[in-house]
Amino acid sequence: MINYFKIILTVLFVLFATKFSLAKEIYRIGFSQCAQHGEWRKNMEAEMERELMFHNDLSLTIKQAYDDSKLQIQQINELVNSGIDLLIVSPYQIGPIQPVIEEVYQKGIPVILIDRKINSEYYTAYVGGDNYEIGKVAATYIANKLNNKGKIVEILGAQISSPAIERTLGFNETLKNFPNLHNISKIDTEESLEVISDSLTAILERDPDIGAVFAFNDDYANIASKAISNSAITKSPLIVGIDGLPNPGGGIELVEKGVLTATLIYPTGGKEAIEIASKILHQESFEKENLLSTTLIDFSNVDILRKQIHKTNLLQTDITKSQDMLINLGEKYKSQQLWLFSITITFLLVIILLVLLFRSFKTLKVANKNLERQKDELELLSKKLEKATQEKLKFFTNISHEFRTPLTLIVGPLQDLLHSSNLPSDVHQKAVLMHKNAHRLLQMINQLMDFRKIENAQMQFQPGNFDVISFLKEIHESFQALAEKKRINFTFDSTETELKVWFDWDKLDKVIFNLLSNAFKFTPENGAIQIKVKKDKPVVKTLWEDELVIKVIDSGKGIPAKYISHIFDRFYQVEHSGSKKGTGLGLALSKEFIEMHRGKIFVESKEGKETIFTVKLPIGDSHFNMDSNLLEASKILESRNHIENYEVYSDAEHDEKDAEIENVTTEKKVILLVEDDNDVRLYIKECLKENYVIHEAVNGKDALTSVEEDEPDLIVSDIMMPEMDGLELTHQLKNDLKTCHIPIILLTAKSTLEQRLEGLEEGADSYIPKPFSREHLQIRVRKLLELRNKIHERYKSQYFIDDEQGDLSRLDKQFLNKISKIVKENLQKEEFTVEELGELIGLSRVQTYRKLKKLTGMSASEYVRLIKLKVSLELIKTSGKSISEISYEAGFSSPSYFAQCFKKQFGISPSDYAKK
Ligand code: ATP
Ligand code: MG
Repeated sequence: MINYFKIILTVLFVLFATKFSLAKEIYRIGFSQCAQHGEWRKNMEAEMERELMFHNDLSLTIKQAYDDSKLQIQQINELVNSGIDLLIVSPYQIGPIQPVIEEVYQKGIPVILIDRKINSEYYTAYVGGDNYEIGKVAATYIANKLNNKGKIVEILGAQISSPAIERTLGFNETLKNFPNLHNISKIDTEESLEVISDSLTAILERDPDIGAVFAFNDDYANIASKAISNSAITKSPLIVGIDGLPNPGGGIELVEKGVLTATLIYPTGGKEAIEIASKILHQESFEKENLLSTTLIDFSNVDILRKQIHKTNLLQTDITKSQDMLINLGEKYKSQQLWLFSITITFLLVIILLVLLFRSFKTLKVANKNLERQKDELELLSKKLEKATQEKLKFFTNISHEFRTPLTLIVGPLQDLLHSSNLPSDVHQKAVLMHKNAHRLLQMINQLMDFRKIENAQMQFQPGNFDVISFLKEIHESFQALAEKKRINFTFDSTETELKVWFDWDKLDKVIFNLLSNAFKFTPENGAIQIKVKKDKPVVKTLWEDELVIKVIDSGKGIPAKYISHIFDRFYQVEHSGSKKGTGLGLALSKEFIEMHRGKIFVESKEGKETIFTVKLPIGDSHFNMDSNLLEASKILESRNHIENYEVYSDAEHDEKDAEIENVTTEKKVILLVEDDNDVRLYIKECLKENYVIHEAVNGKDALTSVEEDEPDLIVSDIMMPEMDGLELTHQLKNDLKTCHIPIILLTAKSTLEQRLEGLEEGADSYIPKPFSREHLQIRVRKLLELRNKIHERYKSQYFIDDEQGDLSRLDKQFLNKISKIVKENLQKEEFTVEELGELIGLSRVQTYRKLKKLTGMSASEYVRLIKLKVSLELIKTSGKSISEISYEAGFSSPSYFAQCFKKQFGISPSDYAKK
């Protein structure tokens, strides 16, 4: 670019230089005029000015010396010093002025003498009237007019000047040719002009027959004429003057009026001086001596001359006008030239710029082409890479599936190994290491599979409307053991007690789980981790009115500011974070998951102090178009009581709580294991056999017979099995009144939501994805059985089971409600037996008994009595009848027995209750 700039500057410079060098050179001429007065000299200057019009490369400066030699010398010097190229001078007095003129000439400045000469050859040219000739013409004219005889009076001009000397010489020498003509007197005007009148009057008195008067200029001749008119003489002499000026009162007018007989034109030489100056300055040839001839004007030609002068004047006016026009035009031309010049330059600049533009455009085009080619190449490369990555991922995913089952069989037995207390410490350490790494491998595989799904757009978003608070509380609980172990103050804090939010259970679970496990990874012992939940208004305007804000705050090492922007990148782990337990996929996945919810996840951190991860989720369903199927599925999910448990990595120590509860269980419950893979079945059995009686079945069909015989308290079943799969088994059991109360846990290597939903739809009570840990399975089994106990408690205070009750199957609800109804209808029947009850329901006595026991924890008679008591409670509250009346109405044989049962059940006597 600098080069282009240089080129433009050079062009501009050249253009300006040319423009100025083309300007014309102006020659300066100085004119030193000896005197100002007198029309003749004014005419001389006017002629010069006129002539200059034809020489536009000449300029003229005129200086007036006012008949003062000293002043003239000074002025000549001034002109020379001002740098004139040529001097025109009309010297006042030869003597004093001559040296200056010679000096100027010798300096090399051309000198033109005008009208007056010097006595030296040191001048360049002379121009002036031919005075000798004038004298000669005057003498001849007078001789003619006077027929060669008579007396003449001569009125002389200033004798010091060269013209006067030459004139008188020419005049008198010519007179010598006419012997009868006598120049009788010469009047010298040197002293004053009055001398003319006085001398002439005196001469006329002496010689009244004077034939002619020859005066050296028209003014003198005019004075002479007046003197003659005033004299007494009768015959007027010829009066001849010199100059013949055309101005008013000049010689020509005087001839016209008859004041003068004739006048001799004495040319000023102004025009010629300028012509010669031009020739000298332009180095053209010229004459050194330029004598201008004279014309005699008398009565015979004055008329023609006057007309000619008039015409000349008119012409002169035209010329002046034309000249003015020319000047105007010249100025216009100049300004137009300037414009043209500017336009040309602009045009040139535009062209240069266009050329530059064109060139850069070309370069750009070439560059673009290159870029495009590179882009194409890159695209091709990236496609290849993409394909390779896809292949790799595909391979990984495929193989991941295969990894899961064997990994389960590594992790599970390892956990068992760790649990056995009699391990030597070095073996224990190694087992811990193996367990940690196997677990990590499992997690990695799960994450990789998730990514693969996201990338193939196969990751399905399956939101449901769940209570997020209990969801979070459960996760919080599952980390409690780890928190205690690390002595971390781990708190849960929420502004809401219950809050329904549409979210994908599985995904949010993974997100919160990752945030917490990160927090636990990077927070040292005795630190603090908080989960804070609140409902808030969105900061910016959104579709939804409220949002859920979950914060996971830890007092750990923090994230250095320079890494924070990468934290959500895949496989990114902060350098030297010391995190060896991860792959750097957790946050990247979390972000994807949260964005599926149209939520946000971000982080703030103070290095060495704290890290805050914030998740924001919209509340309501305005933000996604709910697919009706999805909604259905979600409802089923929602209606289930999830007892999720989380695989929090800990060094697998004994869960003391487990032991506690196990001890509480007095009689061992029966669990039926349905699994076709012998290894897995063995492993599961190992996990549970300590606390439960285990029965086994190898497929669904096998299981059905076993259920009939063994009446298990819980079934753990795989989904994928030959003959009859887990889903079919669940379906059959849950649709049979005899078996529908048995809790079923489904196991599968496929952790897809669809399968999970399918299982739940069939009525399965829980779902455990493979691979699972021993603890996970144990806790899940224990919790489900605990839940049964809780239900038993609940039925003691409630005799109608409403449809909202989520923890019982439809059939079980129907069963219990039917029993309540039958009992109420048969209150008055004293001998109402379990057989009769069973008959009315469609079950045998034993089946009824067992089912009631499993569902409510009570024997049939206990349960019937409970219903009667609940009826009595209702009656006390509403009927206003006496206690004994009520006891009979509720089907009791006596009021005392009623009071006894009532007090046992509710801890208060019926009469006290009635008072309340
Ligand atoms: P993964 O979750 O895949 O098992 P990871 O935990 O290393 O592995 P991310 O959960 O994505 O991966 O976290 C990325 C990195 O961000 C971490 O390795 C760690 O360097 C940094 N980081 C995340 N959470 C915290 C935190 N609470 N305190 C300090 N650093 C953190
Ligand atoms: Mg992580």
